[in-house]
Amino acid sequence: MSCDVIVVGAGIGGLTAAAHLVAQGYQVLVLEKYLIPGGSGGYFEREGYRFDVGASMIFGLGQQGTTNLLTRALASVAEKVASIPDPVQVHYHLPEGLNVRVHRDYDRFLGELQARFPHERRGIQTFYGECWQVFNYLNSMELKSLEEIGYLTRVFFDQPFSCLGLARYLPVNAGAVARRYIRDPHLLRFIDMECYCWSVVPADRTPMINAGMVFSDRHYGGINYPVGGVGQIAQALERGITRLGSQVRYGARVKEMLFNSRGQCTGVKLANGEQLLARAVISNATRWDTFGRLVPAERTPAAEVRWRSRYQPSPSFLSLHLGVHRSLIPPDTDVHHILLDQWTQLEASLGTLFISIPTLLDPSVAPLDRHILHAFSPTTMAQWQGLDPADYTRQKQVWADSVITRLEQLFPGVREAIAFQEVGTPRTHRRFLGRMDGTYGPIPRGTPLGLLGMPFNKTAIPRLYCVGDSTFPGQGLNAVAFSGIACGHKVAVDLRS
Ligand SMILES: Cc1cc2nc3c(=O)[nH]c(=O)nc-3n(C[C@H](O)[C@H](O)[C@H](O)COP(=O)(O)OP(=O)(O)OC[C@H]3O[C@@H](n4cnc5c(N)ncnc54)[C@H](O)[C@@H]3O)c2cc1C
Repeated sequence: MSCDVIVVGAGIGGLTAAAHLVAQGYQVLVLEKYLIPGGSGGYFEREGYRFDVGASMIFGLGQQGTTNLLTRALASVAEKVASIPDPVQVHYHLPEGLNVRVHRDYDRFLGELQARFPHERRGIQTFYGECWQVFNYLNSMELKSLEEIGYLTRVFFDQPFSCLGLARYLPVNAGAVARRYIRDPHLLRFIDMECYCWSVVPADRTPMINAGMVFSDRHYGGINYPVGGVGQIAQALERGITRLGSQVRYGARVKEMLFNSRGQCTGVKLANGEQLLARAVISNATRWDTFGRLVPAERTPAAEVRWRSRYQPSPSFLSLHLGVHRSLIPPDTDVHHILLDQWTQLEASLGTLFISIPTLLDPSVAPLDRHILHAFSPTTMAQWQGLDPADYTRQKQVWADSVITRLEQLFPGVREAIAFQEVGTPRTHRRFLGRMDGTYGPIPRGTPLGLLGMPFNKTAIPRLYCVGDSTFPGQGLNAVAFSGIACGHKVAVDLRS
């Protein structure tokens, strides 16, 4: 069988790339090893609960500007997803009693932070103001492939100031900008947490462009929870792709890429031995899974080896998917929380605890009288491999218990209120998401040159492209939608030339 483009993986990155191409009239075949679409942006169902696998703080579903990339990707295949606005992005519970809520209303958030740090009033205003500047540049231009010279020229003539402004920020990290305006070490630690919350590295290693995007868009397009759960986004993309005549196949694990004598990627071989050909192949697997596993080590381009010397896989997560009695959670509780007991534990295993209660916005994803409480915290594969089945089960329970003990700080009585519990580890993430060591994505090994070190979609192997969180601009559903749209754009231009 042959088609225009094969996409390996139906994560949000793969699906947005496919949607972009299908909308341009190309025949696309998406091959997904699992049974449903979405990857880390997918879901699983147990006993009447629909749990989000990972993401549930969703950017990109806004209605205005150009940075609402999930809305745009859905619209490209004539789909939309109903969503519920979240009034607070996140409620931080940090060391030394630092308790801050990031309200959707920007002035309210700034007021709350300035009340905690009155001596840094101006610094706070200037730092977040500079984030808005970056966001406004991004939000004034159509976001497509930065590898496409025709597009770059057009955008430059349309929006020269935004382009020059953004270029200035490309090599800059958020920490350097924060330190220009802020002196208080506690406030700088807060900015570290603001970055860590989605980049899983402190501000000094977080590109300013990503920070500008996240710190502003939460007040602009806002955080919006899809009605019916996060999985609705992938399902709607799949619906649009198939309605326009392309195909998404499940249970289709790609084992290796195929090449012709000129070294061009010509298709894929599935685990069942079937060979499928295409004019271009897009891999939504991580770069570590793409190069070295799907592409044999001897074909791995030097550029990929160089990239690995600058970026490493981040840890994975221990995830507790809990169903709790509804009476445990007061109705005015915020949906997303971050709990950290000591600053030194920010990046440690089981240090920062992330909590989401999506049923506060959409009760339909749990049985009547129940809430979903998803608590997750970093841990590495090294802490979970080599255990025999009994030790593995025991360790899961011990670690889950320690997370539940910490949850008691925010939700007294949680242990008794648990009606359902499922625990995921790096092994779970590796198995169900096909991600090496269950990693959340790439993080810089040292201080990066802002976003300049992240690779784009085209690889050094002709006709092979990468998409998703190990490409520019990185992790998060809206970020991988950016990568998907850019990848679809680049592939379409290359196929036409
Ligand atoms: C616990 C957790 C919480 C998160 N919270 C948030 C959040 O609140 N907000 C947010 O925006 N982001 C969040 N994220 C990050 C976000 O979910 C990811 O960055 C994003 O979903 C990654 O998308 P992707 O398309 O790059 O890859 P993936 O989602 O990993 O998709 C890749 C797909 O490819 C498939 N695949 C891999 N190899 C093969 C193969 N050989 N053959 C066939 N198929 C294959 C996989 O099965 C998978 O479906 C979270 C992630 C986690 C893990």
